[in-house]
Amino acid sequence: MNITEIFGSNVFNESVMRERLPKKVFAEVMDVMAHGGQISMTTADIVANEMKDWAVEKGATHYTHWFQPLTGTTAEKHDSFITLPVNGKTLLQLTGKQLIMGEPDASSFPSGGLRATAYARGYTAWDITSPAFVKEMSAGNVLCIPTIFVSYSGEALDTKLPLLRSMEAISEQSLRILRLFGNTTARRVYPNVGPEQEYFLVDRNKYLTRRDLIYCGRTLFGAPAPKGQELDDQYFGVIRERVGAFMKDLNNELWKLGITATTQHNEVAPAQHEMAPIFSVCNVAVDQNQLTMETMKRVATRHGLVCLLHEKPYAGVNGSGKHNNWSISTDTGENLMEPGDDPKSNLQFQLVLACILKAVDVHAALLRQSASNVGNDLRLGAQEAPPAIISIFLGDQLDEMVHNIVNGTEEYGAGHNALDSGVSTVPVLMRDATDRNRTSPFAFTGNKFEFRMVGSSDSIAAANTTLNAIVAEAFSDAADVLEGAEDFERACKALIKQLMTDHQRIVFNGDGYSDAWVEEAARRGLPNIPSMVDAIPALIADSTIALFGKFNIFSKVELESRYEILHEGYAKKINIEAQTMLHMVPKHYIPAVIRYTTELASSIASVRSACPEADVSVQTRLLNRVSALLTRASNATDALQDVTARTNALENTVQMAHAFHDQVVPAMAELRCAIDELELLVDKDYWPVPTYGDLMFEV
Ligand code: ADP
Ligand code: MG
Repeated sequence: MNITEIFGSNVFNESVMRERLPKKVFAEVMDVMAHGGQISMTTADIVANEMKDWAVEKGATHYTHWFQPLTGTTAEKHDSFITLPVNGKTLLQLTGKQLIMGEPDASSFPSGGLRATAYARGYTAWDITSPAFVKEMSAGNVLCIPTIFVSYSGEALDTKLPLLRSMEAISEQSLRILRLFGNTTARRVYPNVGPEQEYFLVDRNKYLTRRDLIYCGRTLFGAPAPKGQELDDQYFGVIRERVGAFMKDLNNELWKLGITATTQHNEVAPAQHEMAPIFSVCNVAVDQNQLTMETMKRVATRHGLVCLLHEKPYAGVNGSGKHNNWSISTDTGENLMEPGDDPKSNLQFQLVLACILKAVDVHAALLRQSASNVGNDLRLGAQEAPPAIISIFLGDQLDEMVHNIVNGTEEYGAGHNALDSGVSTVPVLMRDATDRNRTSPFAFTGNKFEFRMVGSSDSIAAANTTLNAIVAEAFSDAADVLEGAEDFERACKALIKQLMTDHQRIVFNGDGYSDAWVEEAARRGLPNIPSMVDAIPALIADSTIALFGKFNIFSKVELESRYEILHEGYAKKINIEAQTMLHMVPKHYIPAVIRYTTELASSIASVRSACPEADVSVQTRLLNRVSALLTRASNATDALQDVTARTNALENTVQMAHAFHDQVVPAMAELRCAIDELELLVDKDYWPVPTYGDLMFEV
């Protein structure tokens, strides 16, 4: 099979529908997909039946409403196509109603107090704009129907519904801006998203010996290996055979699902890699990214590997993120982020840019929140990752443009765009409008913005919902001013100047990793929010409630429920990590160290008895050091035990999350420190688990 045959072969996409559906039905579905609205029940019945026949041909026995609850992952409950036997024969069936709506018991999904368990009704409803697909699993092949998930009273219980609402908002507000510039043809504007996915691979047998990897997806202990990433020899390095076989298999599986897996390479840290697809419409990108993560995990198992999606599986080397490339374009193909050949005279682009500066500046804390999760606390601001301060990188050319507009100056430099290598056989390269600045959390990269803060294990739904919403708000404000203007061009130029002046502080083109930036950002009044618990309150800030309320993306009640869920999730995750440490230390590390000290002591005794004048000072010193660290580890275990128990006894979820952050996390760090020091002293034969070297360099 070649790629073109494989690609999308498990997707009920436009071409399958064109082929299988009656013309009129197909036209109705296409119209709803492009312009919103609902399909009729008769149409739903026909689509459902064809979808079922197609899925059965693909070997599917079951179907599921596939949704994305607030657990960060996906959920599915399989139902077979089988109906009650009539005359001993069963029929396979999927009705329009079954396609469009489901009613899973919602009581065991996080709802943050939105509904009591007694009122457990939740509904899933088909997102017609994201194609159904057949997933091949050991449980059999399953037809997956992408859906949203709402409570009985209509509140969103998932990440998809708010995302779809934010897409409506940005479409509507972008159209207002486009109309001001004389565009009468565009009917809809879409956010496009290309998420680059980073991940680690680890040998499955080694993984299974580490309870921290199994329960937490990251190592809670581990001294640095002698070699890390300092030689930069891994990034873009030759892909090892076993990893290559995994990537090949992964691509195949992703292509079947219609995911345009394109780029693959080794990342900076040992055993770290990346896959990037070609961008697609935002909600499809969100669904496909979830599927990508799931597929990575499944395919890894086939190769005796485990895929680690955690933001920081190993301390001391790069963590994993998800660069979220984001732009907006019309249904007629115009990208609003395209500066064109001459941004200086491209008023529409300037207005779009000015609005984005405003959106990100005003809602910096919210944007930061949208990319926060427990794992990302360990990643942001460490090694390669962007700092926890939101700023925008524009590159020299646009930065100069903003500068000129703000200061009313004319000159416009950066004209030299050709890059001559000086070698006649090498083509003269055209320079991109921006250089790369890896240190910026939000960088303009030619015709899109790259939001680099999102964590590797996270859904990209929240980040994109936020981006869509904040930019929709800035567009809406701008349109309010400009729609009534007598002299549009003059008013527009004045507005651009004002917005750029007011929000220029968010632009930063320097080194985001430096301490100087932390100080400078503080001087500029930009928020620096290092942890998830400090980021969550942005969700219920007045500015956030007004923003999401304005576009019906989240009600205040929904935001409050998410605020609750996030605190609860934080507390639970840190508790699992603490409990895992409290399991590993007494069961694995301490017994191993005791065995080692016993062996050391008896060897000192036997050397002394064999040769009383022999120098045993090395052994004795070692025994002393190891014993002292053993005491420290034991005390730290007791301390962690105490503080975790006290924290778990707190009644208030928000207080509990803060106590986990302020007290349990430092107690975990102290325990880790003692164990990691021991690892460097104790004989490897006694050490109970694989080390960083074993895990990262033997894949
Ligand atoms: P890099 O940022 O590493 O140079 P690329 O720019 O080629 O890589 O693309 C990174 C991701 O951005 C890919 O998923 C790509 O499809 C996506 N992308 C490219 N153009 C756009 C765009 N206009 N809008 C959204 N995503 C885009
Ligand atoms: Mg990139």
